[in-house]
Amino acid sequence: PFEVLVVGGGPAGSAAAIYAARKGIRTGVVAERFGGQVLDTLAIENFISVSRTEGPKLGVALEQHVKDYDVDVINLQRAKKLVPAQDGRLAEVHLESGAVLKSRAVILATGARWREMNVPGEAEYKNRGVAFCPHCDGPLFKGKRVAVIGGGNSGVEAAIDLAGIVSHVTLLEFADTLRADAVLQAKLASLPNVTIIKSAQTREVLGDGQKVTGLVYRDRTTDRDRTIELEGIFVQIGLLPNTDWLKDTLTLSARGEIEVDARGQTSAPGIFAAGDATTVPFKQIVIAMGEGAKASLGAFDYLIRHP
Ligand code: FAD
Repeated sequence: PFEVLVVGGGPAGSAAAIYAARKGIRTGVVAERFGGQVLDTLAIENFISVSRTEGPKLGVALEQHVKDYDVDVINLQRAKKLVPAQDGRLAEVHLESGAVLKSRAVILATGARWREMNVPGEAEYKNRGVAFCPHCDGPLFKGKRVAVIGGGNSGVEAAIDLAGIVSHVTLLEFADTLRADAVLQAKLASLPNVTIIKSAQTREVLGDGQKVTGLVYRDRTTDRDRTIELEGIFVQIGLLPNTDWLKDTLTLSARGEIEVDARGQTSAPGIFAAGDATTVPFKQIVIAMGEGAKASLGAFDYLIRHP
């Protein structure tokens, strides 16, 4: 059995595994896809102390750093069930392969995924104009025209943020009203370089084969299609934590995020969590790494108090 078993091999899981291994305790990582979301990223310019890198490169570096230590890396395996420690028995992580891994402490770092529009052109132009993270990719569109899809809090926050960087922002909302908080809506309405279009259903991402050149939306009040010329599209219709398999076992927030305290402890003793899968605000690489380190130290502290 493991002393610490990490589920997830993204920035949070990698940091957790390294911090555990450095304590000299038996550490394992099980991951569906080692590297996590960074594998789907191109330019990364906010990984502090590294001016510029690329996602696949960072993904390889994460795995290499973990493998510098005596860590059991179990890649391409998906966890489907968690049984927390009980009555002196170890915690169990059940894999889809049928295997059961046992550990004294478990750190969950299964991350999240952005909800997509599922329209033609979106997948083709991902990282070539279609973006999901304004904190990450906003500066790449300096002085350009962008759209934000989604009029909830994240969409309106993204539009306000981007309006300070890009030349023009068009915010498109499917419904006939925005769902964001009133203060955010008021702030948005006060900005000179923002256009808000409601009752708009995005239909297609247009491009020239290299990058995004526009988008087509249907005006749901007239049923007519309209085209906007632009260089970037930020999709802000939800971030889905990879926690479906945990909902009967742990306390999750209304959005499905694992609730954690300041040490990364979840609602079950000995079960810790870190990164995009948790309630920690702002989903970023450096934040996920810090949270992974913290949850791992939290788990170590738990282990020395529960011999
Ligand atoms: P993830 O990276 O999502 O890793 C989750 C891990 O868990 C993966 O290994 C996954 O395979 C595994 N997993 C999931 N479910 C299971 C399961 N049931 N069983 C086993 N394993 C499982 N952030 C920045 O700071 N800067 C950027 O420039 C930036 N750009 C981005 C661009 C894109 C296109 C995307 C999608 C994200 C970007 N981000 C960026 C956000 C950043 O990638 C995330 O905040 C970060 O990767 C979160 O790390 P994590 O370890 O919590 O989760």
